[in-house]
Amino acid sequence: MSRAAAPIRILIVEDEPKTAATLRLYFEHGGFEVNVAADGSAGLRLARELRPDLIVLDGMLPEIDGLAVCRALRSESDVPIVLLTARTTEEDKLRGLQLGADDYVTKPFSPREVVARIRAVLRRSRREDADAKGVLRTRHVVVDLDRREASIRGRAVLLPPAEFAILAALARSPGRAFTREELVKRAFGPSYDGLDRTVDAHVMRLRRKIEDPRGEPLLLTVFGIGYKLADEPA
Ligand code: CA
Repeated sequence: MSRAAAPIRILIVEDEPKTAATLRLYFEHGGFEVNVAADGSAGLRLARELRPDLIVLDGMLPEIDGLAVCRALRSESDVPIVLLTARTTEEDKLRGLQLGADDYVTKPFSPREVVARIRAVLRRSRREDADAKGVLRTRHVVVDLDRREASIRGRAVLLPPAEFAILAALARSPGRAFTREELVKRAFGPSYDGLDRTVDAHVMRLRRKIEDPRGEPLLLTVFGIGYKLADEPA
């Protein structure tokens, strides 16, 4: 396996040269290979060309807004995305997650914090690779943890790391209701310190991909508790 030797490639999409240069410095120091795009269209182009392992995306870009870039990336790829946001309200942060970002960091940030966040997101998406855990099956849902593939009612669905992790956590215990906090811990690990409401944003996106309007709903909101996968073991 030559994979261990290949550096992890990070694409930074950020229009402020100073911020981009600082992040590049810290990421390179952390052993990552770094490319920088200074606007949204260059970001999209480089994402397609370079196929980075993770994208750090500024939410406020000229011309094409960062959130629109996030949505466009998500429509074609499940690459992990960490959003840099200058917005401070909970709603604003959640909006990025609703558009498919895996995590966010609020400006002004310390570069160390960004490095810690991207490592956590990478661990999350790789942990599933590392611990071989086989295949989770319920009647309608198959989650292949080794191949990081999911299918719903026999149809493959492309899921970014956060949504995949949530579906896997739910599919481990079909029928069981999880609180948001439990789901966060199971999906993202005990050290995750984001908002519990993050789960709501990811669940909303997950639902759009896995629910069939003609079938029984699979991912239920349990009032006063959280969420459950309304399905039987296979
Ligand atoms: Ca900016």
